[in-house]
Amino acid sequence: MPVKRGSGGLDWQQDALCALPENQDMVEYFFSSETDERYEAKNLCFACDVRADCVRWALENNELWGIWGGRDEQDIRRTLSVDSEGNETRRGRFPQCPYCGARTSRLRTKTIDIPNGGRWRTARAVECTSCGFQWQSRSSANAIDLYYRERDEKRQKNAAVRNKIAEKQEAREARIRAEEREKREAKRDKERIKREAEQQMQRDKARAKKEKKYAKLGRQVPGRKPGWKKPLEDGQTLEIEPARIDLEDEHPSI
Ligand code: SF4
Repeated sequence: MPVKRGSGGLDWQQDALCALPENQDMVEYFFSSETDERYEAKNLCFACDVRADCVRWALENNELWGIWGGRDEQDIRRTLSVDSEGNETRRGRFPQCPYCGARTSRLRTKTIDIPNGGRWRTARAVECTSCGFQWQSRSSANAIDLYYRERDEKRQKNAAVRNKIAEKQEAREARIRAEEREKREAKRDKERIKREAEQQMQRDKARAKKEKKYAKLGRQVPGRKPGWKKPLEDGQTLEIEPARIDLEDEHPSI
């Protein structure tokens, strides 16, 4: 294990697998650029009892190089949301739990008291709700707060888009319903006009037939007002003798 600091606060290193004499030839693997060696180092970490303490140490002391608790520098920097020089970055990649790998939505930020913190009485910390792992880091907490802000904004935006789509859909359905209603009413009106025209035509035919019969007899159609003149096709009128009340008695077939 790459121990860079004194033994104060590093009691957990006594149980470090990488500190065992039989693993001393692997120490260089923790800073190697060879994939196989890095893989072996990580494997050793995942069998180590103090993995949580180790990765927490790396996070809280900004260890930005090497493998700590099975996490390499990329993982550590992503968790801290910093670049290789320790400056805070925002690249759209938010921290995940460095211990169990839980995604950002499982992480919560909080402010904790530091009884012996000197001029710093509180510190920003992050806790994983999946495994309970916790570490102190202002940059991690800032990144996670940003994640939730962006997520809320995105959700609000999506909800607004969904509402807009629903409103459009509703308006479209209302328009379709109105068009269908207009079509039904137009169809009903057309049928009514046609029916009334047919009825009128039948009435006209019947009246024409009746008038023809009375015209043959030279009598006025019963019910006509005295002085009524039958209109002819050439625009002239035919004056018909006033009806006699007893006409139908004399000609029952009329
Ligand atoms: S987790 Fe890995 S680097 Fe950390 S003490 Fe254990 S073996 Fe060493």
